[in-house]
Amino acid sequence: MIEVSGLYKRYGNHVAVKNASFSIKKGEIIGFLGPNGAGKSTIMNILTGYLSATQGTATIDGFDIMDNPLEAKRRIGYLPEIPPLYTDMTVREYLEFMYGLKKVKLPKKPHIDEICKIVKIEDVQHRLIKNLSKGYRQRVGIAQALVGNPDVLILDEPTVGLDPKQIIEIRNLIARLGKTHTVILSSHILSEIQAVCERVIIINRGVIIADATPEDLSAKLSEDKSLVLRVSGPESEILKTLQTINGVAEVESLGQRESGTVDFHITPKDTADVRREIFERLSNRNWPIYMLTSNALTLEQIFLRLTEMPVEEPETDELVGLDNQEDTEDSEKTDKKESEE
Ligand code: ADP
Ligand code: MG
Repeated sequence: MIEVSGLYKRYGNHVAVKNASFSIKKGEIIGFLGPNGAGKSTIMNILTGYLSATQGTATIDGFDIMDNPLEAKRRIGYLPEIPPLYTDMTVREYLEFMYGLKKVKLPKKPHIDEICKIVKIEDVQHRLIKNLSKGYRQRVGIAQALVGNPDVLILDEPTVGLDPKQIIEIRNLIARLGKTHTVILSSHILSEIQAVCERVIIINRGVIIADATPEDLSAKLSEDKSLVLRVSGPESEILKTLQTINGVAEVESLGQRESGTVDFHITPKDTADVRREIFERLSNRNWPIYMLTSNALTLEQIFLRLTEMPVEEPETDELVGLDNQEDTEDSEKTDKKESEE
């Protein structure tokens, strides 16, 4: 559905995106995860045709965003970081305005009715946008992205600035939309991405440093595959039973940490997954498991590890045919942008 290849974006001397390549299949929900300034919005702005790439290509459903912008854009609904809401309009007026702007061919009233229903803003459709809460405004922002029925939704930090209840509502809405759309959303908060995305692309200083499912990421990056087990029963017998499991390399008793139970540290052989076997053996003996956890890194730890790794400074001369401009104008813009955040 989306193919990005060798994408570079340069603001003056600053390379904001360096050699980004990825592909996204129809129906996937993908998260762009990275600290502020990583280049998430820049990539999204290129995908949606708001910015041109310095180098590289991006196609949506086979249409190149530079060569065939109208066809490509027709397939995309975009919620930018700062939603372009006209706050003196009512919700309905605004959606009708966007309908006209996007030159949508679908029958107007039923189309807008349907969108209001999907994002649950039917009750507020005749209110002025400026009088809505932030959560409702964000829903209106998502509603305008849905005008024209695009296959792809690109949502830039859709939950930023919302309170916890609103965050959950928007998350649920995104999960629902993900059933019928290809969705890309960005966040600098890992739990946001983990909650809704099937795949995460981690971006740091303009470079894609990981592209995997959350589970694969933790599996790939954790050296420690050992488990901690808490079980109720006779310590020495449990120890013997665990030691006879095929795939278990080593078992160590950690003693009692919770009354009436014993903890064990279990090291599996190579990549063996021994959890099912542990469950079956212990349940056969009627020794209830109170806890079984992996010592592997959490995604949070992995994210920190990845983004704190030194990244090669982008070499500007890799960009062919571009002369080095003066730095000053660019750094002013960068400063301004950062102070706004
Ligand atoms: P993110 O969305 O991940 O926070 P951005 O894509 O907004 O990151 O920004 C990536 C980098 O590019 C940052 O260092 C930012 O300061 C810089 N940048 C973004 N827009 C501009 C611009 N218009 N001019 C100069 N630098 C910019
Ligand atoms: Mg951003």
